[in-house]
Amino acid sequence: MSRALPLSPRSLDLLDFELYSRQIGLLGVDGQLALASSTVAVVGLGGLGSAATLYLAAAGVGRMILVDKDVVDKSNLHRQILYGAADIGKPKAVVAAEAVKRLNPKIDVEAVPEPLDLQLASWLAREADVIIDAVDNWRTRLLLDEAAWRMGKTLVHAAAERLHGQATTVKRGVTGCLACIAPSNIEASGCQSILGPVVGMLGSLQALEAVKVITGVGEPLYNKLLIVDGSTMTFEVLKLKPIECSKCLEKLRPRKHRHELGAEATL
Ligand SMILES: [Zn+2]
Repeated sequence: MSRALPLSPRSLDLLDFELYSRQIGLLGVDGQLALASSTVAVVGLGGLGSAATLYLAAAGVGRMILVDKDVVDKSNLHRQILYGAADIGKPKAVVAAEAVKRLNPKIDVEAVPEPLDLQLASWLAREADVIIDAVDNWRTRLLLDEAAWRMGKTLVHAAAERLHGQATTVKRGVTGCLACIAPSNIEASGCQSILGPVVGMLGSLQALEAVKVITGVGEPLYNKLLIVDGSTMTFEVLKLKPIECSKCLEKLRPRKHRHELGAEATL
C-alpha cells in the first residue's frame, strides 16, 4: 500500500483504534492516519453528497468542507438522508456540518452555504486533497473540473437520474479531464425523477473512491467510467482514453487568453 498524502501532527489525535477497529484491518494504521490528515470537499449536498458526506465523516476524514447554497426542501427528503423534516428551510451546508459533528465530533468541518463560482472552486482546489463532484449540473461540474485540474487535485465524479448513474475519478497526469466526457450540450436540464437508493449508491461509491485515493488501498476509477443501471442491477465499466484532450490542455492556459466559463453556476 502506498500512502498518497503527508501525515499531519493532528492525525495522531484522531487515531481511535476502537472507533476504526473494523476498517484499520483493511486500511492499516498508515491509511487511517492518511484519512485523518486529509481534507475532502463535498460540493453539492443533495442525494449524492448526503451519502458521500456521511460515509467520509464516519471513515475519519480529518477535515471536511461542505458546499451547497440551497436550503432543505420537503421534496429533498426522500433521497437526501443528511436531513429530516425539522430541517426544512434551513441551509443544507449548516445542517450537514451539524450531522457530521454528531457522527464524528473530532472532525474539522466547514459549512459553505454559498453558490459555487470560480473563486470558491479555486479555493476548494487549494484546500482539499480530494473534491467530491456531487452537483446536479455540468456547468458547475466543469468549474470544479477546471479548478481541480489546475491544482492537480483529484476530482471524484458521479451523476444520477431516474434509475441510472455513472462515476469516474479524474486527476491530471493520470487521466483525462472531466470535460473529456461531458455531454456536448451542458445546458440541457436533467431529468427530475430519481430514486433515493440510486443516488445513495453512487454517493457511497464516491466516498469509497475518495478513501482509496487517500489511503492508496485498491484501484480508483482512473480512466474508467462506471455505468450503473439500477433497473436491472447491471454494472458496466467502460475504459476511457488516458490521453489528455484539447480541453485538458486548454485548462492549463492563462485564463485571460481564452473565453471564460460563466462566473457563477448553480448547484
Ligand atoms: Zn480533457
